[in-house]
Order: sequence, then structure tokens, then C-alpha cells
Amino acid sequence: MATQRTFSIIKPDAVKKGVLGQIADRFEQNGLKIVAMKMIQMSQAQAEEFYAEHKERPFFGELVDFMTSGPCVVQVLEGENAILKNRELMGATNPNNADAGTIRHDFCLPVEDLSANAVHGSDGEEAAAREISFFFNSDELVTRV
Ligand code: ADP
Repeated sequence: MATQRTFSIIKPDAVKKGVLGQIADRFEQNGLKIVAMKMIQMSQAQAEEFYAEHKERPFFGELVDFMTSGPCVVQVLEGENAILKNRELMGATNPNNADAGTIRHDFCLPVEDLSANAVHGSDGEEAAAREISFFFNSDELVTRV
């Protein structure tokens, strides 16, 4: 498997809890290099466009409100099989179903709100490319050896 890049968000709940460093550490300890990283306050328009695929879902409004409720950290992660590796580190969407040792199990229990599940990660190559360019210009991505 070739080196891949994937897009990650440390969501507002995790930033608020003060665990962004611990989450970034999970990536670094598991072979994912951070090649771009910034803290942002997402606008409503950005959140609506980013999650446009969920526009018709009942939780869309709640998800947009949550993602704009406080700062989050957007990142590009690079490594072997990075897309799947990141999804494995994240755990299941609902933290109640996430395996012990995953980010969502370790940082989101007990669950109050399914929007507040600590992290987002691209679910495929097409999504990764789209999501990276949604938040980063090419000159914001570095080369790391
Ligand atoms: P993932 O983030 O695991 O890829 P999805 O892309 O399906 O999951 O959903 C995007 C986000 O929407 C999830 O991370 C979660 O915060 C929220 N979400 C998903 N399903 C629900 C639901 N049934 N109720 C409330 N929020 C949800």
C-alpha cells in the first residue's frame, strides 16, 4: 500500500476537553505524520458545505450547530494506508459502539450527543482529496521525511 494523505478534524468537544494533544499523539504514535494543522472557528457556511452529503438527514442542523460551537483543529495526516488507519484509530461513529483503545471510545464516553464524537476522518480517497482542498491551500502542506 502506497503512502496516502487523509483529512482529519479534532472536533469542538475534544478541543474543549483539552485532549487535542492526546489525540494528535495517537496519530503520531501510529505511523501518521501531521503534514498540515491549524485551529479554526468553522463558519456556518463552511460546516453546511463540508457536511452537504448529510443535508437531508435529521441530524444535519444539530451537526452544523455543533461544528460551529467552538474551535476545532483541521489536519492532514500522511502515512501508509492513512485513510483506513485513521478510521481504525477513530473507532465507530457512535462512541458506544467503538472498541476500547479507539479515540471515540477513550475520549467520548459517556455519549451525550452523537455530533460530539471527537474526530472526523475522510472515508475514502475521493473524500480525502476534496476535504483537504476544502480547508488547505497546497502551500500549507509540508513535506516530511
Ligand atoms: P463518520 O464521522 O464516522 O464518518 P458519518 O459521516 O456517517 O460518520 O456522519 C458524520 C457525523 O454526523 C458523525 O461523525 C456524527 O458526529 C454525526 N452523526 C452521524 N450519525 C448521526 C446520528 N444518527 N445522529 C446524530 N449525529 C449523527
